[in-house]
Amino acid sequence: MAYLDHAATAPIRPETVEAMERARRVVGNPSSLHAAGRAARRVVEESRETIAAAFGADPAEVIFTSGGTESDNLAVKGLYWAQRAVDPRRRRLVISPVEHHAVLDAARWLADRQGAELVLLDIDADGIVTPDALTAALAAAPDATAAVSIMWANNETGVVQPIPGLAAAAGQVSFHTDAVQAAGALPIDFAASGAAVLTLSAHKLGGPVGVGALLLRRGVALEPVLHGGGQERDVRSGTLDAVAAAGFAAAATAAQADDHDRIANLRDALVDGIRTQIPDAVVTAERAERLPGIAHLMFPGCDSEALLMLLDAAGVECSAGSACTAGVNRVSHVIEAMAVDPVLARGALRFSLGRTSTADDVAAVLRAMPSAVERSRAARAAVVEGGRR
Ligand code: PLP
Repeated sequence: MAYLDHAATAPIRPETVEAMERARRVVGNPSSLHAAGRAARRVVEESRETIAAAFGADPAEVIFTSGGTESDNLAVKGLYWAQRAVDPRRRRLVISPVEHHAVLDAARWLADRQGAELVLLDIDADGIVTPDALTAALAAAPDATAAVSIMWANNETGVVQPIPGLAAAAGQVSFHTDAVQAAGALPIDFAASGAAVLTLSAHKLGGPVGVGALLLRRGVALEPVLHGGGQERDVRSGTLDAVAAAGFAAAATAAQADDHDRIANLRDALVDGIRTQIPDAVVTAERAERLPGIAHLMFPGCDSEALLMLLDAAGVECSAGSACTAGVNRVSHVIEAMAVDPVLARGALRFSLGRTSTADDVAAVLRAMPSAVERSRAARAAVVEGGRR
């Protein structure tokens, strides 16, 4: 099989497995005071230092969580609750309309149940928020914004947002960025980014599933979502998973040495090849800055799900967009927000490449693509024709 779905989850790295095997031999709870507990604590703290160094943070700013979804929820809800407690007028949550559901739905839930006012920012045709758009949104109701959340890079299109400029435009308002897809694919320097809070997930960079982090700048108020033993500076209670932390740290370090030029060249060869075979294929946001491994294409007259199944049967694994919306046959909210022609958007596919991708993977896609597109078009045409009769 040619695995071109690294953005859904990346293959686990050998360094991750080795680090986890080593950490597994340590028995204690990192919060216990005896020798075994201290040994487990050492694993956690060394992992924390490694992760901090990889992403330009101070070790004290790293809060371990169960992954990107939890970190996003903690950031959005935690910032909102903390700001409202300080000043009840701060009800606005200003986010981009192309956020992952972990941000979007957390913000919607706050709007539905907790009195928040959800403000969706304007984007350009590539899905980018400009600092001016953010400045205008904040100026519309000064002192009423609890938090801003704009992702570093989009999980469907790979489009990169101008984070330092956006964080500067946020000014004193707490700025969160979901860097789940960007981490490992782009250099991330938390301190230099200007963000107050940043989300990471280990499995997107070759670490284990089920662990992530929230980078939280010192002095930024955040209400916890989980209450309990008071671990992680009282922001995220729960027994720390030393084994997962060790795997995350090993992956974060190894990811720094990935050859992104090689990955981008493979991605470009894939896109060029597809365009030669299927000249009317549309490459999404082609002129925008995008992650090296992601190619998002739309095939006129096709249906994403049919394409996915046909490619899967031909040994090619890719996605219709985000894994989270796959299986539901509707155009993703990201593509919808970019105001793409809905008929074109129905034939969207995301190929995501990474560390283990090869020229053979690209060749496998190019072998399978013409027939998949032809068959999907024929099936769709038959449905349309049937509808007319
Ligand atoms: N944010 C983005 C941009 C993602 O791509 C994902 C995963 O698809 C998540 C958040 C959720 O991360 P996790 O799978 O670790 O919960």
